[in-house]
Amino acid sequence: MPQTARKTAGRVYLVGGGPGDPGLITLRAIECLRRADAVVYDYLVNPRVLSHARSDAELVCLGRHGQDQVAGEQVGREAAGGGRARGRIMSQPEINETLVDLAGAGKTVVRLKGGDPAVFGHLAEEVAALVEAGIEFEIVPGVTAASAAASYAGVPLTDRDSASAVAFVTGHQRGDATAVDLDAKALAAFPGTLVVYMGVTTAATWTRDLIAAGKPSDTPAAIVRRASLPDQQRWICRLDEVAERLAVGPVRPPVLVIVGDVVGDASGGESSLDWFTRRPLFGRTVLVTRPLGQAEDLSAALLELGADVLAQPAIEISPPHDVAAVDRAVERLAEFDWLVFSSANGVRYFFERLLANGDLRALGGVRLAAIGPGTAEALARFHLRPDVLPDTYRAEALAEALVPFVNGRRILLIRASRGREVLAEQLAASGGVVEQVVAYRSTDIATADAEVTIAIDAGRIDWITVTSSAIARSLANMFGQRLRSSRLVSISPLTTETLGGLGYAVAAEASQYTMAGVVGAIVRAESASPKRAKT
Ligand code: SAH
Repeated sequence: MPQTARKTAGRVYLVGGGPGDPGLITLRAIECLRRADAVVYDYLVNPRVLSHARSDAELVCLGRHGQDQVAGEQVGREAAGGGRARGRIMSQPEINETLVDLAGAGKTVVRLKGGDPAVFGHLAEEVAALVEAGIEFEIVPGVTAASAAASYAGVPLTDRDSASAVAFVTGHQRGDATAVDLDAKALAAFPGTLVVYMGVTTAATWTRDLIAAGKPSDTPAAIVRRASLPDQQRWICRLDEVAERLAVGPVRPPVLVIVGDVVGDASGGESSLDWFTRRPLFGRTVLVTRPLGQAEDLSAALLELGADVLAQPAIEISPPHDVAAVDRAVERLAEFDWLVFSSANGVRYFFERLLANGDLRALGGVRLAAIGPGTAEALARFHLRPDVLPDTYRAEALAEALVPFVNGRRILLIRASRGREVLAEQLAASGGVVEQVVAYRSTDIATADAEVTIAIDAGRIDWITVTSSAIARSLANMFGQRLRSSRLVSISPLTTETLGGLGYAVAAEASQYTMAGVVGAIVRAESASPKRAKT
């Protein structure tokens, strides 16, 4: 390649995006995504993986013709969340051209593929096009669907007694979708596990051919749909039942079929290795309604327990109208004995102004109070520990804990643009000289995402988290009657009371008024009620 071309041309990273679970992407893939100017991605890639791309990266979604195209609601829903993507169905030559054009324009391009790019991923065609155009490339492997399906369905692909080899087989052949031209004889004699990709529509043909070629019809098979995703499904049957089983529903792609004795070993009752679907919240969908940027902890904890998580912020947190008022309070900090925080947002926004004006020495000898563990944690980020932290997370408890210290003391209360007056009132009643400053604004989000509304209407949302009274009120406005079609979990008796006042009953209430408490309440309620199958 001439030196001059190398200077101006970009580079293409052909990257495996993993099978579905966004955690199953490699560190190298993330590095590539972070530096990409453009990401050209497959329909099978979990759009959540795209969050590693820069916010200004160009996203090009490739639909794809083919029997196993995923037109499923979940994928469609998540892809719709991408927002900045442009995309349409492209032929392979068009995909090649897109890559060459983008890189030719000097861009760093990530070609993101489902699973591993080297497994049924049209790698050769794309690489050939890049070589021909003199464009540099790198290939980043990913976790292929076979590995994910095996691990997440608790089926080992090899076994020292029963399977000393594995074959990745495609059920889809060029041309006529129902014609399979596999070497059935060779595969029937294969001394190990067969993993069939893209074998849904052709199942009747390839299972029949394998059996005709001598594979025992009672060979155990595992059908794994949407492996590693929160709605993964798994069925165990015999080889001669696979086509029939796939016809029920019918089962839609993406599906892998694992055929071999390893399946039989893994499927036995309680000793089953099916850890993934046994997680406490597997098959449950939870709507998290915390403000944008503050939902991660709660979402992560729910995901960890197997839930599918959707987000619908009910309120928005933003800087106050009057930032100068906060700045003035910061300047006068030395005049106060107590600085009282009634939310983590209060800490965040107050310290933003404090640090914009100086440094932590401005706090001097002022004593600190926090309403609960989340607020204390926000203080801990500044290496500060509250002098007062009540046992129960509510304004009354904070006031009570402060009462012995406030008589004649000057107290600065950091608060939201709206909220309860009870703290200020009680502190003043106990002889405190209370000043309040609005450090941030909390406003309702008026309309729900269309996709979330659809999910609620379809009965797909099992739980809605209600983590404050403000959120309760906003949700009531946003969803009205719809709020009754899912179970509500409340963070505290106060929030439960607010919901009650609005006419909604809660199905669970946290005993610890924290995000962890909310998660615990859902898990308790789920384990108390017999698990409903979701399929
Ligand atoms: N390069 C990909 C495979 C692409 S072919 C990889 O390495 O995984 C597409 C086929 O992969 C689908 O038809 C299906 O058979 C399989 N597949 C991909 N993701 C899957 C998933 N999450 N669950 C089950 N099968 C999956």
